[in-house]
Amino acid sequence: MSEKNILSYEKKTVYEKAGKEIVEKAYEYAKDYVKFLDASKTEREAIREGVRMAEAAGYRPYSFGMPLKAGDKLYYNNRGKGLFMFRIGTEAINNGIRITAAHIDSPRLDLKQVPVYEDNGMCFLKTHYYGGIRKYQWLATPLALHGVVVKQNGEVVDVVIGENDTDPVMYITDLLPHLAAAENEKTVGRAFSAEKLNILVGSRPMEGEEKDKVKMGVLNYLFETYGITEEDFLSAELSIVPAAKARDVGLDRSMIGGYGHDDRCCAYPSITAMIDADEQVHTTMCILVDKEETGSDGVSGMQCHLILDLLSEISKALGGNDATVRANSKCLSSDVTAIFDPAFADVFEYRNAALLGCGVGMCKFTGSRGKGGTSDASAELVGWVRRCLNEAGVVWQTCELGRVDVGGGGTVAKFLANHNIDTIDLGVGVLSMHAPYELISKVDLYEAYRAFEAFYHFE
Ligand code: MN
Ligand code: MN
Repeated sequence: MSEKNILSYEKKTVYEKAGKEIVEKAYEYAKDYVKFLDASKTEREAIREGVRMAEAAGYRPYSFGMPLKAGDKLYYNNRGKGLFMFRIGTEAINNGIRITAAHIDSPRLDLKQVPVYEDNGMCFLKTHYYGGIRKYQWLATPLALHGVVVKQNGEVVDVVIGENDTDPVMYITDLLPHLAAAENEKTVGRAFSAEKLNILVGSRPMEGEEKDKVKMGVLNYLFETYGITEEDFLSAELSIVPAAKARDVGLDRSMIGGYGHDDRCCAYPSITAMIDADEQVHTTMCILVDKEETGSDGVSGMQCHLILDLLSEISKALGGNDATVRANSKCLSSDVTAIFDPAFADVFEYRNAALLGCGVGMCKFTGSRGKGGTSDASAELVGWVRRCLNEAGVVWQTCELGRVDVGGGGTVAKFLANHNIDTIDLGVGVLSMHAPYELISKVDLYEAYRAFEAFYHFE
């Protein structure tokens, strides 16, 4: 190696640095991830999958006040929308907990509480978008309906329409180019209105009805199939998500296209690393939370007091002090970052952007403008993680979302850091982030898995 190579830092791909064996493992790992992605299009479905995986690995339900001992593998299911898996280590709990935190909600279109209406012989469902979307991406593409309807008697009806090949799909109409002259003059931000994101669900009039014949036909179908009435929508959480399934992308099959990589491409490696690492020494915790895309508020978001309650209860049960436990804990906020896209090169700063296939991405800070709204991890923590990843041979890169002052974004990192837990963002890079069909690299996904496993074990 020349002197220059020792002195200078150069980003390399997983293919160059890790070698063929790791690349082949990454391709294998991706197969199960794709299944997880297809089974987890909403936060509820992702938690159901997470619980299934945890139970298969010997984790059992935790309730507050339970006695704990080394080797215990437990999970706390928060209202079916959040999951906290943890394993008690042999060392003193006051040494802290190794935590990973990913979110399992993704941008989508939620149905409004009074969604059904008829207009000119067509029946539609009104939506209210959830998270940051580019509205035009949801037009003229097959969509599916997922969620729950809670009846007045408390019965919960699960709904999934549009996933089986024989199912009908949902659809939002778009304007034909022949008549789009005026619309083409508008900016993208003004051309597409949220109140036009209405789902077309019917056009066949119901015989014997006087008015709203098409709507009555749709309501009749819902009653006969699910036993639900129009009033039941008031207490429902129904979401429109893309109907497409995750697939290999590229002639070399090096990438995966799918809905909800953000942030399931970090959630899945967190769960599998947690299960596979089976760490003996440190107490470890894998957190999957909801509501990140809308600010992490509420009972299922990362800002909920639940994390403090859990850490306090775990500390108490093991004879520790929760303030000490938090001060000595470390957390990887496992969320996605943006991959440099040559088609939109002007919004990225190449030297500090995450590059496709160059491994898991570490963001020391997120936020926007002058580092507004970020916890900004300390150089000491970066140094520690750097040592951890390098000693394990994980291929990783540092990155920031885009050019300074172009935009920005946040993660759950600051909410954990605000609790006096050293936290840094580490996750997979995504192309077309927040689009109905996002793209990631298989080797980046696998390096995230290897990174989380190393983190659970290290020192
Ligand atoms: Mn995210
Ligand atoms: Mn996001």
